[in-house]
Formats: sequence, structure tokens, C-alpha cells
Amino acid sequence: MGSRGNIFVLSAPSGAGKTSIIQGLRARFPEFVYSVSHTTRPPRPGEQEGRDYYFVSPETFRRMAAAGQFLEWARVYGADYGTSLLPLEAPLAAGQDVLLDVDPQGARNVRRRFPDSVLIFILPPSVAALEERLRARGTDADQTIAARMEVALDSIRQAIDYDYLVINADLPQAVEEVTLVVRATGLRLSRRRPQLERLLANGGPPRHPWPAP
Ligand code: 5GP
Repeated sequence: MGSRGNIFVLSAPSGAGKTSIIQGLRARFPEFVYSVSHTTRPPRPGEQEGRDYYFVSPETFRRMAAAGQFLEWARVYGADYGTSLLPLEAPLAAGQDVLLDVDPQGARNVRRRFPDSVLIFILPPSVAALEERLRARGTDADQTIAARMEVALDSIRQAIDYDYLVINADLPQAVEEVTLVVRATGLRLSRRRPQLERLLANGGPPRHPWPAP
């Protein structure tokens, strides 16, 4: 039997370019499961139901949370966001890797439930750049931008708990760096231990080539 899939958790303050990085990762790793969260916030222009989020009412969200359907959920910027567990279970068991885009509270809860998950924090090149990007997006009112800046600064303080830090000054390089983390995780001995143990038990290291990861 192959080993379980890896869980990669990507967090970033909004405006750090995480969405673009995830787009880049989708091109590199089309076989990943990209979890689509449920949220109670309204869709932004251009966002699509089922692609960006499942947009649900607070009642539906509460019902799902009470029924234990979320791997984790958290309140961010006054709205609720949750990762549903069911669509991830079968792929993980089949060895497929999963990518979650959650805030730092969510990341901590994912780690509590899946201690082997790999936590990656994306930093903007500077706080000034972050504010500029938030304004350039032009979808949020000034007041919302100020509130998002507060939350952004607070989330950056929580980057200390992550495994990897990627600074998004240059998008292709940031995608490359996350790609390196994914590749290195695939080479972890813990991922390949059963395979290695089987080989060593069958009369020691084989003469023929090692199986690919
Ligand atoms: P946005 O409203 O800008 O799409 O996302 C706001 C924040 O919510 C981001 O930091 C994003 O990572 C976080 N988020 C999105 N989906 C989830 C989720 O399922 N769980 C948690 N904990 N955070 C989420």
C-alpha cells in the first residue's frame, strides 16, 4: 500500500499574492486536490461558486460545523471560513496530495489534526507593498482595507509557527520556492519508510534501481 497524501497548508495576509502563487502551483501540480472552502462572506466580482468558494448562509455554515463536517473552521474578517473534510479523505488515503489555503488559526488546527502537514507562510516583500496591493485590488472600502491591514499584521506575527517562509517579491521565484518544498516533502524518509523497510527485509538493498518516489 502506498503512503497517505501530504497536506500542504498555505497562508498569507491578503494582498501577499497567495492567489497568484496557487495559480502557478495548479499549473505545476495538476494532480493535487485544491480544497475549496465554504464561507459566509459574499462573492467578490469574478469569484465563482464551487471554484473559489462555496458561498453559504450563516445558518448552513453553522449546521455544517455542528455536524462535524469541517476539518477546521475559523472566523476571519467577520465572516466564517471552513475546510470540509469529506472531499479530502479519499484522495489522502489514495496518496494524493492536498493543498489548503487557510488563515493561521486554521493552519494550527490542521496541524493539530494532521501533525505531518507542511505549513508554508507567504510574506509580501514589505508591509507597504501589502497595503498597495490591497488598495490596487479596489474591491474593498477604505475601512475594510484598514481592518484587513490590522488582520494582516497580526497574521504575519503568527508566521513564526510555520515550517517554511516564502517571500513573494517575484512571483515565478515564489512559485519555484513552494515547488521545492513540495518536492522535498516527497523525498522525506517518513513518506518512503514502508517501501524502504520492505526492500531491506527482503535480503537487503536491491541491485536493481530504487523505485521512484
Ligand atoms: P478571502 O476572503 O480574502 O478570500 O480570505 C480571507 C482569509 O480567509 C484568508 O487568509 C484565507 O486564507 C482564509 N481562509 C480561506 N478559506 C479558509 C478556510 O477554509 N479556513 C480558514 N481557517 N481560513 C480560510
